[in-house]
Amino acid sequence: MKLDVNVLRYLSKDDFRVLTAVEMGMRNHEIVPSELVERIASLKHGGTYKVLKNLLKIGSLVKLQNVMAISFFLFCLDDGFRLTYLGYDFLAIKTLVNRGVFTGVGRQIGVGKESDIFEVAQEDGTILAMKLHRLGRTSFRAVKSKRDYLRHRSSFSWLYLSRLAALKEFAFMKALEEHDFPVPKAIDCNRHCVIMSLVQGYPMVQVKQLQNPETIFEKIIGIVVRLAEHGLIHCDFNEFNIMIDDEEKITMIDFPQMVSVSHRNAQMYFDRDIECIFKFFRKRFNMSFHEDKGESEETEVDENSRPSFFDITKDANALDRDLEASGFTRKEQTDLDKFIEGGVEKSEDSDEDEESDDEEQTCESNEEGNLNELKSLQLQDEEQKSSDGVEAEVELDNTEN
Ligand code: ADP
Ligand code: MG
Repeated sequence: MKLDVNVLRYLSKDDFRVLTAVEMGMRNHEIVPSELVERIASLKHGGTYKVLKNLLKIGSLVKLQNVMAISFFLFCLDDGFRLTYLGYDFLAIKTLVNRGVFTGVGRQIGVGKESDIFEVAQEDGTILAMKLHRLGRTSFRAVKSKRDYLRHRSSFSWLYLSRLAALKEFAFMKALEEHDFPVPKAIDCNRHCVIMSLVQGYPMVQVKQLQNPETIFEKIIGIVVRLAEHGLIHCDFNEFNIMIDDEEKITMIDFPQMVSVSHRNAQMYFDRDIECIFKFFRKRFNMSFHEDKGESEETEVDENSRPSFFDITKDANALDRDLEASGFTRKEQTDLDKFIEGGVEKSEDSDEDEESDDEEQTCESNEEGNLNELKSLQLQDEEQKSSDGVEAEVELDNTEN
């Protein structure tokens, strides 16, 4: 399904309230029973059912087996409801628009492995990039196999994991920027959505020629080394995640998989990042290295330039403070790292198990939390009397993708 933001025009405040209630229910339920949606949304005069019925009419699609109806926002199953990716997108977009982060959504500019990237416009015409994380899209099976690890969380795994990926990306982008790394400017984050500055350039993979390949090569290797000095490894540092502009200025992107230099596989990840760069420059720009046994007359780079992980003075805590300040907790980091690495291992960390003792009890207490959250949402809503429906707030761009 395509992200057609025009659909937002048709949504009322109650519609968003009910979608938010389904989202909250999904923290503890794979399928959220309609009574629970009603209880969380607590609309007057049983309004929730009417809203659910309406929501199911918007952009409704062909029925699937065991699925009574699918709309843009919701799956309706015989025992309850689930948000679609688009439903989750709309909740994030609505929140960010309400915050005044941007006013309209434009064309799609990237499809990553596990994300969709769009342009968004601010009131003054500034264009930003919006990254919607979709963890579990390409590795749905992997998500399923992690159920054991995620246990009761399994029911909302894609929501939870996509949100963590966005939170981590946002936190790292901010911290890296503060330490003068060439990254996009982190603007805001909500749910699975990160808003950042738009990079004027293209991924290195699209570049056929460079004026100064050696200089760019040195710069890129220098970034990997400086990252390690600051305690981090990118882990996906390749021609797809390095952007370059016409002035040959480098920007690195895509941070959800970054790990600390104290990670048990740190050296392997570091060497892999370095190798990706060597390989790309060797192939694309015909650079040769001493290790290639001088088989060509092209630019030679001394193999001594290949940095060794052990020779780098690493400060594993350099960025910790910034990351902690960002609100991305260690617990969340552990959850996400475990998913990304694919390790279905049981942690000895005791707080890991804090919620797993009695699922029923956990559900109850969390639902209470949900209700409180909804109350605060209601308060915010009331404060925001001027924001009456999305129509007035979203200046929607009709640009086709
Ligand atoms: P994924 O994690 O799915 O690989 P990326 O963050 O690498 O996602 O983004 C995918 C593509 O989207 C990039 O290769 C790039 O073309 C584009 N992109 C991502 N962020 C930006 C940005 N801030 N400005 C411009 N283009 C971007
Ligand atoms: Mg990428």
